[in-house]
Amino acid sequence: FEAKKLPEQVTFYEPSMANGREVQLVLENELYKALENNELFLQYQPQLKLNNTDLISMEALVRWKHPEKGLIPPSDFIPIAEESGLIVPIGKWVLETACRHTKELQDALGQPVRVAVNLSLGQLFHENFVEVVRSILKETDLSPESLQLEITESMTMDTQFLMPILQDLKKLGVTIALDDFGKGYSSLAYLKDLPIDCLKIDRDFVKNMKDDEHEPLVDLIISMAKHLKLNVVAEGVETIEQFNYLLNRECDAIQGYLISKPSSFEKVLHNCKNKVNSLCYKTQSEYYGY
Ligand code: C2E
Ligand code: MG
Ligand code: MG
Ligand code: MG
Repeated sequence: FEAKKLPEQVTFYEPSMANGREVQLVLENELYKALENNELFLQYQPQLKLNNTDLISMEALVRWKHPEKGLIPPSDFIPIAEESGLIVPIGKWVLETACRHTKELQDALGQPVRVAVNLSLGQLFHENFVEVVRSILKETDLSPESLQLEITESMTMDTQFLMPILQDLKKLGVTIALDDFGKGYSSLAYLKDLPIDCLKIDRDFVKNMKDDEHEPLVDLIISMAKHLKLNVVAEGVETIEQFNYLLNRECDAIQGYLISKPSSFEKVLHNCKNKVNSLCYKTQSEYYGY
């Protein structure tokens, strides 16, 4: 096989692309230092059960406070971390920090709270991932059922690779959620076989829930999840209408700006200690309309 040398192929070295790559390399180098310089931090967003306002779970979301560029969202730096392999130390830092914070919160409250941590494929590829999780749980003294690991649909493409790792993780006692569900990829055939505990309905579905097109899909996802005995969490719930719609369905929990934006650990701890409606900004009566 001989590749045809088309003139277009030379356009690879276009200045704009070189610039893009340069920007990428600068960010990558800065991200490397960010970890050492403590520029990364976590925010937490609560997940609430639909039938009561107790904080049952929260999702840890990583942020980067760049000394000059300001706050950089994960959508801008996680891909760079994934490409460069930095996701391995960053992911480990996220796991450690989230588990340590959650243990501290549990001790302060005297009741269990679960934390959900997002994973990237590159972390799972790293040979000792299961051991890393095991040792972090041990070090932080967090019970495994208090940790939920979030994987995305796109990661489930390679089931042969993923299955044994997920099964080993499950043996530790942690739970697994499938994030951004509905965006594509998952075939029903292996959704049934994946050792997961929870489906998180993607924000886009929740946003468009009341469309003629989307409404039957949300119902379908929920009933499918129930059929597979999975918990269902709706992401990105922003309005009371969306909330009420889900209240009438068998959705187990919700997450979104309606309840709370992601906030610092200090704020979560403070709100929980002072029983500021288990972390909600709104009071229970505002929230349920009574
Ligand atoms: P995700 O895991 O699906 O997280 C939910 C995202 O939706 C978060 O964005 C959250 O702030 C946002 N969100 C929550 N409620 C609402 C709402 O009501 N309306 C709207 N418009 N947005 C809402 P964020 O924090 O920017 O994170 C984006 C993505 O970055 C995450 O999506 C996740 O895929 C990734 N990510 C975040 N932290 C980590 C991490 O520690 N490791 C890895 N591998 N990925 C992470
Ligand atoms: Mg997530
Ligand atoms: Mg999501
Ligand atoms: Mg996402």
